[in-house]
Amino acid sequence: MRRPLIAGNWKMNGDRQEAEALLKAIAGAEPGKADLVVCPPFTALAQAQDLLRDTVAQWGAQNVYPEPAGAYTGEISPQMLQSLGCRWCICGHSERRQLFGETDELINRKVKAVLDAGLTPILCVGESAEERQNGQTASIVQREVEAGLSGVSAEEAARLVIAYEPIWAIGAGQAATAAEAEEVCSWIRECMFRCFGTEVSGQVRILYGGSVNGRNVSDFLKEPDIDGALIGGASLRAEEFISMYNRAKA
Ligand code: PEP
Repeated sequence: MRRPLIAGNWKMNGDRQEAEALLKAIAGAEPGKADLVVCPPFTALAQAQDLLRDTVAQWGAQNVYPEPAGAYTGEISPQMLQSLGCRWCICGHSERRQLFGETDELINRKVKAVLDAGLTPILCVGESAEERQNGQTASIVQREVEAGLSGVSAEEAARLVIAYEPIWAIGAGQAATAAEAEEVCSWIRECMFRCFGTEVSGQVRILYGGSVNGRNVSDFLKEPDIDGALIGGASLRAEEFISMYNRAKA
């Protein structure tokens, strides 16, 4: 039985005061049979460590550089994240792929570095509108999963998280339908089966992300291959974000 997971990606939002208010509200979430994760910007991670300590909420980063330390001006290592109590790290978000030119090869290095530091990667994969129209969804998602997880062991693969985030649904206000999301998440699970076998494909958690909110989250949670959601915009609204976590617990 896979434990549902609700994860929030704040992106580049939240100054010190806003982060404090949001984290304090999230700290009030009640425990239950689901996991709750927030990924604020790097600048708010120390606040998360302070304000979420001993709460049900865990925290993570939105990005990382795949080296432990050194002359990489402006970058943050998995070890630095770990020292702030981070247990999670988003890798390969489509905004990083599109706006910052991240390749499958770099994302794979990030996934492995995050695992080596004992953190859990949330590997994001998903096709653009054009790729979907051209019937390339399955091949794009398969390539991103296989390349992103190249060299990862079965034991590591079982404990990481994959988020299917169609680029056309991110920040669009119009999510994929639950059936569209389930179809691709089931392909991802099949891909995990081919790469790592039955046990891993049965254990790995697969999220849907893209315009998830308090009104549609339950539709996704009902699907057999969708184990939760990665939420951008709606994760900045504390009450709505916690209500989505409460649906996942139920
Ligand atoms: C995201 O950026 O990961 C995301 C899913 O954004 P939104 O929920 O705003 O579509």
